[in-house]
Amino acid sequence: LDERFHVRHALAVSVGGDTGPVILVHGGAGARAHELTATEEGSAHAALRRSIEAGRQVLLDGGRAVDAVCAAVQELEDAPDFNAAHGAALTAEGTAELDACVMDGSGRAGAVTGVDDIKNPIWAARAVMEHTPHVLLTSPSPELIAEWGLQRVDPAYFVTERRVRELAEYRSAPAPLLQHGTVGAVARDAEGRVAAATSTGGVVNQLVGRVGDSPLVGSGTFADDATVAVSCTGMGEAFITEVAAFRVHSLIELASLDQAAAAIATLDRVAARGGTGGMIVVPHTGRAVIAYNSGAMFFGHGTAAEVNTHV
Ligand code: ASP
Repeated sequence: LDERFHVRHALAVSVGGDTGPVILVHGGAGARAHELTATEEGSAHAALRRSIEAGRQVLLDGGRAVDAVCAAVQELEDAPDFNAAHGAALTAEGTAELDACVMDGSGRAGAVTGVDDIKNPIWAARAVMEHTPHVLLTSPSPELIAEWGLQRVDPAYFVTERRVRELAEYRSAPAPLLQHGTVGAVARDAEGRVAAATSTGGVVNQLVGRVGDSPLVGSGTFADDATVAVSCTGMGEAFITEVAAFRVHSLIELASLDQAAAAIATLDRVAARGGTGGMIVVPHTGRAVIAYNSGAMFFGHGTAAEVNTHV
């Protein structure tokens, strides 16, 4: 196996201060299947920056963490650089099936799976949270989408040439293709509230109907105002069976680990199942953390004082 695909001990990077508004975003964890061209790199940096700026503006205007994470994720869904909405990874049948989840630290959550006609799945997840008594809906009907005032698009909108090529390459030579791509955001607002949001097309060549960790509360996405907000990326099956995002919260709440130690301990469990990936974590008090055990991760953060992106 190429050494880029080796699972290794997780790394953690801390950013921001102990209090005050902060937003972190990720554009997926994985190995670099190829070196990015200068154009691809520039485009990914620019998209991450737009995303952070969108969320940061909400926070600097005194808005809520949950509004900041949805605004940030929308920018990444619209960017073709990432595996979410436009530019999503394709199923074995060449279609895009989108999953998204949002949770705020008060305990409210909404999620969608199998979406193929809503331009921004994250806002569909938000609508489930706000306008239904449910948490998780499979492909909301056109009537609901209209009632929620969301934009419908032709399924072809999500399918990019790059992803068609990627699927063809994968099918001719299946490999542990751990591409970057799933997107997520976590934020803390001026009131100390936290929220998390994640959006994805899943994994390349997945069976139609497969659902990963991203839309599952506690696996790929979790938030609790008493502890942390978490958004994960990586091999979804390992994050589901480790209930990864909730594990980070539990290690902090019940075992008094700090947020970096909790993230590393969780990723080490994911690694023990052969899973690579990463997560972004923002605590209600304390520094925010980016942790990953994969070869690379796309991320960025914004505070009142600075904006940074890493590709
Ligand atoms: N975790 C996502 C999934 O399994 C994929 C990813 O993060 O790249 O659907």
